[in-house]
Amino acid sequence: MLRIREGKLDTDEHREEGGGAFVLRHRGHGQSAASVSNDDHCPISPHGRDETTPTGHSQQHAQNGNVPEKTALDGEEEGKEEEEEKSADEGFMGMTPLLQAHHAMERMEEFVHKMWEGRWRVIPHDVLPDWLKDNDYLLHGHRPPMPSFRACFRSIFRIHTETGNIWTHLLGCFLFLCLGIVYMFRPNMSFVAPLQEKVAIGMFFLGAILCLSFSWLFHTVYCHSEGVSRVFSKLDYSGIAFLIMGSFVPWLYYSFYCSPQPCFIYLFVVCVLGVSAITVSQCDFFATPQYRGVRAGVFVGLGLSGVVPSLHFVISEGLLRATTMGQMGWLLLMATLYITGACLYAARIPERFFPGKCDIWFHSHQLFHILVVAGAFVHFHGVSNLQEFRYTAGGGCAAEEGGAL
Ligand SMILES: [Zn+2]
Repeated sequence: MLRIREGKLDTDEHREEGGGAFVLRHRGHGQSAASVSNDDHCPISPHGRDETTPTGHSQQHAQNGNVPEKTALDGEEEGKEEEEEKSADEGFMGMTPLLQAHHAMERMEEFVHKMWEGRWRVIPHDVLPDWLKDNDYLLHGHRPPMPSFRACFRSIFRIHTETGNIWTHLLGCFLFLCLGIVYMFRPNMSFVAPLQEKVAIGMFFLGAILCLSFSWLFHTVYCHSEGVSRVFSKLDYSGIAFLIMGSFVPWLYYSFYCSPQPCFIYLFVVCVLGVSAITVSQCDFFATPQYRGVRAGVFVGLGLSGVVPSLHFVISEGLLRATTMGQMGWLLLMATLYITGACLYAARIPERFFPGKCDIWFHSHQLFHILVVAGAFVHFHGVSNLQEFRYTAGGGCAAEEGGAL
């Protein structure tokens, strides 16, 4: 149950002013969800009620009724309450002042609960619990631990260190969802082999949408609790592998359109590497700040596995055809964008040079997100050009150099 001491709702502001004190309790789980201050003078215990318990006190009654063995304390408490209610039954319409007060308290709790979800304040890095400490160059503007999904999703519309991270990939996700729908509904006559081509390009859109949606979801619920943050960070890393694997499919399909054997071999290799990256990202240590460089290295390495098929293509087709027909220029630009993003992410640039100045906008993770969306868009553009070239050239391979079909 929510508790109100001193009859104030806005004392979290006083606490913050008084040294960043911030305490959340989640008593429904029988433990303190997070405590980032020694100051326990908390007039509102925002999550005093278990979220799974819709009516708090009355739910407790229902549960007690179903459990045959009660503790002595429970029995004593219930006995008192029964006595109170018995005497109360003599009141007007069965709604005694005591019951009325009880219902009023429940309504008040509901109101305070709703109020709290919109009333949290950002906190400095040094008072964050360890599981929320990721980047110590971002000094202020962090969300406190908020063990409520509703509060996390409402925080999308507030300004804090994750706002830019959430919106860059939320909007990116929407962009690729729209592009994907438009592309999939293009008339079949615009393709040489509509089904095959739509499946190949669809894999890219699927990878991009999965990556971006896992990412914005992770950044949204990151502050919920240690367990939730861990699960979603694994999804976030897996999403990057899906994007890279999905990007390879249409590119290999069109680049090796007339030599399916190397196409399948390269596809198989990138899938094995991608699944390995997903597997390693399921380990708990992988998400820790110390492994930031390793994480960047794993995904850059996965992307760079495209160097082998690129060299294969350049050697077999020649540099001129590779840059015109093969869209190597766009591919190179995409790789540059991704690698730049990964380097900024790993080195935490620019906040490393301006600690506390990039807390909300333009910190490395945000720039990395923007570069990922830009890289994926450049890849889409390159793949569209490859598709157009195939449509112009037609489905036959006999006239093409090195044609295997
Ligand atoms: Zn991210």
